[in-house]
Amino acid sequence: MTEQKPVTDAAAQKVPALPDAQTVTEVQHYTDRLFRFRCTRPASLRFRSGEFVMIGLMGDPHPETGKQKPLLRAYSIASPAWDEELEFYSIKVQDGPLTSKLQHLKEGDEIILRPKPVGTLVHDALLPGKRLWFFATGTGIAPFASLIREPETYERYDQIILTHTCREVAELTYGRELVDSVRADEMLAEVIGENFADKLVYYPTTTREESPKMGRVTDLLRSGEIFRDLGIEGMSAETDRAMVCGSMGLNTDLKEILEGFGLKEGANSEPAEYVVEKAFVG
Ligand SMILES: Cc1cc2nc3c(=O)[nH]c(=O)nc-3n(C[C@H](O)[C@H](O)[C@H](O)COP(=O)(O)OP(=O)(O)OC[C@H]3O[C@@H](n4cnc5c(N)ncnc54)[C@H](O)[C@@H]3O)c2cc1C
Repeated sequence: MTEQKPVTDAAAQKVPALPDAQTVTEVQHYTDRLFRFRCTRPASLRFRSGEFVMIGLMGDPHPETGKQKPLLRAYSIASPAWDEELEFYSIKVQDGPLTSKLQHLKEGDEIILRPKPVGTLVHDALLPGKRLWFFATGTGIAPFASLIREPETYERYDQIILTHTCREVAELTYGRELVDSVRADEMLAEVIGENFADKLVYYPTTTREESPKMGRVTDLLRSGEIFRDLGIEGMSAETDRAMVCGSMGLNTDLKEILEGFGLKEGANSEPAEYVVEKAFVG
C-alpha cells in the first residue's frame, strides 16, 4: 500500500496564486478602525497621484460549487506616483465583506490589484491657481497622502493646505506622521527646493474628542474661523483650488460652500476650480 501524504504537506497548503496578485510588504495599525499597508507595485502600473484602483481578496468559496470569486473595492492609492511600492490607508468595518478580512493582512500575504487607475482628484482636473486646499475626513485623506508627496503639487502652488477632520485624536495619527515625514523628506527638498515644506499647512480638527482645534471643517469655513486661524482673507476663484474627499454629506456641504466662494467643479475632461470624490459609498 502506498503511504498517504500527510495533509500538513506544505504543497497541499499552498494557496493558489491570485490573479493580479501583489505581495504585502508592511502593515501598520493605528486604531481598531484604521490601518495602512504597503505592497509591491506591478512594473506596468502607471497612475497619477490622487487616483484610485480596485483591490481585494478572494471571497469565500461558494457553498455549493466551492468556486471563489475576487472581492474587490475601490481604494485610493495613498503613495505618490514615483514610489516603487504602493500604499493604502484602510478602514476596518467589522462586518464589511472585504475589510473584515483585509484587516488581518500580514507581511508576505497577497492581495488582488486591478491595474486600472482612475479618479478626479488629480492636478489635470484643476486650472492653475495659487493656493490648493485638500479637504478630507477619515480615510478620505488617502488621495492627499499621495498628493502631498508629489513634487508637482509644490511646483504648481505657492501654498497647500491639508485639512483633516476625524472624530478622535488617534484617528489623525496617520496624517500627522505623514506630514512630519514629508516636511523632513530630503529627496523632496532636493527635487523641489529647500523651503518646499513651508508651503505645506496642516489643519487637523476633531469633532468628538477634545483637541486643540475642534469642529467640522464645514462649520469652520462658514464661520470664517479657519481663515482667521490661518491668516487668510477667504477663498476666491482667481487664487484658490480645492480637492474634497469625504462622506457624501461632507462632499455635498463643501460643494455648496466652495460654489458660494465662486469656485466651479472641474473634471479630467474640463478642468475648473475644485474636484470631489467619495471616500466611500454608504
Ligand atoms: C472612489 C473610492 C475610493 C475609496 N478609497 C478608500 C480608501 O482609500 N480607504 C478605505 O478604507 N476605503 C476606501 N473606499 C471605500 C472602500 O471601497 C470600501 O467600501 C471599504 O474598504 C469597506 O469595504 P467592505 O467590503 O469591508 O465594506 P462595504 O460593504 O464596502 O462598506 C460597508 C459600510 O461601511 C462604511 N464604510 C465603507 N468604507 C468606509 C470608509 N473608508 N470610511 C468610513 N466608513 C466606511 C459605509 O457605511 C459602508 O456602507 C473608497 C471608496 C470609493 C468609492
